Amino acid sequence: MLNIILFGPPGAGKGTQAEKLIDKYGLIHLSTGDLLRTEIAKETALGIEAKKLIDKGELVPDEVVIEMIRHEVEKHLDSNGFIFDGFPRTTVQAKKLDEMLANEGIDVDIMISLVVEDEIVIKRILKRGQLSGRSDDQSVGTIKNRLDTYNRQTAIVEERYKGRNKHRYVHGMGTIDETFDYIVKEINKLKK
Ligand code: ADP
Repeated sequence: MLNIILFGPPGAGKGTQAEKLIDKYGLIHLSTGDLLRTEIAKETALGIEAKKLIDKGELVPDEVVIEMIRHEVEKHLDSNGFIFDGFPRTTVQAKKLDEMLANEGIDVDIMISLVVEDEIVIKRILKRGQLSGRSDDQSVGTIKNRLDTYNRQTAIVEERYKGRNKHRYVHGMGTIDETFDYIVKEINKLKK
């Protein structure tokens, strides 16, 4: 199995790169943002609660996303592996992910952080908001809150995987294909 965490601030391009990686390596894409948006679209109780937090640029509670991920991991244990996109976003989530995988005799192979400057991220998200209508992508205020949440609660998760020599930075400000090439190079190094 090949298990990858795609990391980086909102708008770094995690979803875009995840789509290309699933094509190349036949992995299962697990995006907590996508899973939450499905709940919102279905207007479930969970979705309605989550939307309030998402629109403020805050995180939804750890237990909620952990259980979503657990459910998806259990469904796909016979796959080639997983791409975790937008998860883990807190230290608690990272611990739970590691435990969950260890219970199945698997592990995170690599965490790749896409490095993108804040100004570029803000521009990209506003453009995405115009195309998709995503409510949390519409205002600079919400986007700045998300960056702030990232810096306060999420960025620290890198340290966990750095400590295990499983963390790599990848330049994320070039074209989609350039970024993809850098990611693939890092993944291919794992196989040697
Ligand atoms: P982006 O990468 O642009 O932030 P996502 O789709 O990953 O977009 O996430 C959208 C929102 O969903 C986040 O701002 C947050 O409110 C919520 N969310 C997504 N994943 C998580 C998570 N792992 N933990 C807590 N909240 C999350």
